[in-house]
Amino acid sequence: MLPLLALGVMGIVVSQTQGDPTLTEVWEPVPKIVEASEERAPSDAIVLFDGADLSEWTGDWILENGAVTITPGTGNLVTKRAFGDVQLHIEWRTPTLIEGEGQGRGNSGVFLMERYELQVLDSYENTTYPNGQAGSIYKQHIPLVNASRPPGEWQSYDIVFMAPIFRDDGTLSQPATFTVLHNGVLIQNHVTVEGPTVFIGEPEYEAHNAKLPLMLQDHTNPVSYRNIWIREL
Ligand code: MG
Repeated sequence: MLPLLALGVMGIVVSQTQGDPTLTEVWEPVPKIVEASEERAPSDAIVLFDGADLSEWTGDWILENGAVTITPGTGNLVTKRAFGDVQLHIEWRTPTLIEGEGQGRGNSGVFLMERYELQVLDSYENTTYPNGQAGSIYKQHIPLVNASRPPGEWQSYDIVFMAPIFRDDGTLSQPATFTVLHNGVLIQNHVTVEGPTVFIGEPEYEAHNAKLPLMLQDHTNPVSYRNIWIREL
């Protein structure tokens, strides 16, 4: 028997009076319970940095007042663990004292898999090429808007990154994608990554492991980070 639909004047379904609604109820799988408190990382997240110690990382940056700050020229900060598809929360702050301009002002970067850069930059009243400003997938995708706060203020990125998939012969099967919120504002909406971040020339994929470390860039500016957690998807 066909369900009887009661139609409104515009042809919109307003109610159903016959049939069995339980036929379209799906009871499995039951989502795992995750505690999502205001104060803490979600209960199933790996806390990479909570302000207290850098045991999840290798590198020589300064730990002070619950934040870790780039020691210019010492190299990048790299996680000991490797990750593939992730949700990542990270907070960052560019120096209050404005020095330099364009790409030289509060430059750092969140590198997924050590090669795909979400740019960190002081982009508050600081002009540069838009595909290199804060929130850009560096030299690949301009952010949808500029949600930057003034220098010296903490800012956040919430990132969903899907790792690329390679075939056994090393060719690309599926490119990586990024979705990013900057200070809660959507700035990258499921964009496709063209390949590893390059400064000069065109990006080109090269097959790599399914999981690789997360890296924070030392671009010789004293940018700080705090409250870093990650969920493997
Ligand atoms: Mg950078």
